[in-house]
Amino acid sequence: MVKDKTTLTFYGGVAEIGGNKVLLQDRDTRVFFDFGMSFAMKKKFYSPPFLSPKSEKSLQELEILPKINGVYKFDPSPPEVDAVFLSHGHLDHSAYLSFIKREIPVYCGETTCTILQALSEVRRADLEFRVSDIEFKAFRTGRKIRVGGLEIEPYHVDHSVPGAYGFVIHTSNGAVVYTGDFRDHGAKPEMTRDFVENAQKAEPVAIVNEATNMTGATVSSEAEVESKLDSVVAAADGIVLAEFAYADVDRLNSFFHIAKKNRRCLAISLKQAYLLEALGKDKGLTVPALDDEEILIFRKSKKRFDKWEKEIIERYDKQNKIFDAQKVSKQQCKVVLAMSFYDFEELVQLEPEAGSCYVLSTSEPFNEEMEIDYDRLVNWLSHYGLPQYHVHVSGHMMPLQLKKALKQINAKRMFPVHTESAGLFAKFMRDLKSKVTLVEKSKEYQL
Ligand SMILES: [Zn+2]
Ligand SMILES: [Zn+2]
Repeated sequence: MVKDKTTLTFYGGVAEIGGNKVLLQDRDTRVFFDFGMSFAMKKKFYSPPFLSPKSEKSLQELEILPKINGVYKFDPSPPEVDAVFLSHGHLDHSAYLSFIKREIPVYCGETTCTILQALSEVRRADLEFRVSDIEFKAFRTGRKIRVGGLEIEPYHVDHSVPGAYGFVIHTSNGAVVYTGDFRDHGAKPEMTRDFVENAQKAEPVAIVNEATNMTGATVSSEAEVESKLDSVVAAADGIVLAEFAYADVDRLNSFFHIAKKNRRCLAISLKQAYLLEALGKDKGLTVPALDDEEILIFRKSKKRFDKWEKEIIERYDKQNKIFDAQKVSKQQCKVVLAMSFYDFEELVQLEPEAGSCYVLSTSEPFNEEMEIDYDRLVNWLSHYGLPQYHVHVSGHMMPLQLKKALKQINAKRMFPVHTESAGLFAKFMRDLKSKVTLVEKSKEYQL
């Protein structure tokens, strides 16, 4: 008798950090886990804004968007996939949902849904990010979701964006675990422990795990980041410029606590204010309230504002919260200003005083805008006499902690993804009972 087949196929996240697109097929049920944009593949050919992909055809020709039948909006054939599950809202896991047929349901955590909806509002839709017309099906941790013959249980994990999940997927050939991106040194390590315990209980036949940090691991935590930020902010005489990912709520909280502690206000961007308004309604999250006295909203000097920007400005101008560069300039020692390198033009108006500094609090390529043009950054900082501090902790598990978690989960097979060091991972894990498969792109692996 032919056994019912369960297979895994990896269309992204292979030999690269991000771009995850993992297809799980069980009998006649087919589900994708993540459908992200591959920054590494894109960078090989494109250099936005002047050289950007113009169509799906370009993306497919260059294999940035994999060729898969019955999945894409621009493919007239009927859908051949039953659902897409998102682990979290980072674009390297979610952006290419833009191309997915709208009749294929997309499941994600409630917070991810909020983040992606907010992001579609604040970011001009383009070819590679257009998700505003997706009706997300939201889940919470521990729910059981049935899709065809599969039962899928999402479990919250700690990561550098809220609303991140790992999955335990019950197939006809045993459980498969997908970690998504996770860590155990952030603000909520107990969530990751909870996921690991549930994954272990399922006695999985396979685990698809991230292995981002195999080289360049560090020993730190979000708590340590907060205390380092304290030493910087407490000693600064002028303004503290802070660069961090706008959806990294843990980092935002760390900056907020430290600004408060040092009797400063945290000035956030309009984009962050918009996201905070949306996330403020999420009972599972702790975020600064926009009407808190120590929160200000920074308005860049530009002539035209989008509708959502005008609305924020109007709402918070009444509370005297909207500050432009000139207004911030007058009280530099009282402000921590969240600011991206791409907003440095504002420094001309702001005129940072002696004793000001710049804190780079990011490192991961989950956001194209974060790929800093380093030489130019240094030129700006030199021009204004701003020393640069790097205070950051990764959103991903460190190697020894990853090994411990994988040992505990004890899956029969491991499929490392989201890494440039799968070979190193395999050797590092060679004494575990779980056997490592080094995956090739678009190849089907039977479980
Ligand atoms: Zn990622
Ligand atoms: Zn991520």
